[in-house]
Amino acid sequence: MKLVIATNNKGKVREIKEILEPLGYEPVSLADEGISIEVEEDGETFEENAHLKAKAVYDICKCPVIADDSGLEVDFLDGAPGIYSARYAGEGATDEQRIEKILSELDGVDESMRTARFVCAIYCILDNDTEYSVRGTLDGHIGTEPLGSNGFGYDPIFMVDEDTSVAMLSAEEKNSISHRSAALKQLAEILSEKSE
Ligand code: IMP
Repeated sequence: MKLVIATNNKGKVREIKEILEPLGYEPVSLADEGISIEVEEDGETFEENAHLKAKAVYDICKCPVIADDSGLEVDFLDGAPGIYSARYAGEGATDEQRIEKILSELDGVDESMRTARFVCAIYCILDNDTEYSVRGTLDGHIGTEPLGSNGFGYDPIFMVDEDTSVAMLSAEEKNSISHRSAALKQLAEILSEKSE
């Protein structure tokens, strides 16, 4: 089944393709489909924002769509940056600037208090009557410096154990544990049950 991915984030597109293609789906990007759209993400939850993005693209293509809204929740920061993860250091800031901001906010905070999770909400619209929402999470803690160069976003400071950031994992390793793959695998299960 062809699924249009309602995002302009190249890191998300790459991972969604890596996860869904082996499961027999044909995920295609907005660029692949010649769709150019910026959706205002003014929802209050990951799920609401994923829905807004999926609906905006579905209204254009009228074909099966998936949207990903995701982010980082840091417990010491009361769940920030959360749904504001992409804009945490202001519009136009870089991943490096967002990482710097989190590290400075956690400066001097003990490792036991640096717990965090990645959250990914995936919203799928198949047709006018069929919509699904799923969520995946990955628990870890925030390191004290950026480590590794794989992945994207906050991966260099998100530690899955004492010494290993997500940016130090291969694509296969990240996709075997990530919030995004947990959500997409739930969706794939729902879609395969539906087609039985
Ligand atoms: P949005 O879903 O487009 O609002 O943006 C999500 C933001 O959360 C991204 O721009 C990243 O900064 C961050 N994020 C989401 N998923 C990941 C991930 O797998 N690794 C690192 N950062 C992520």
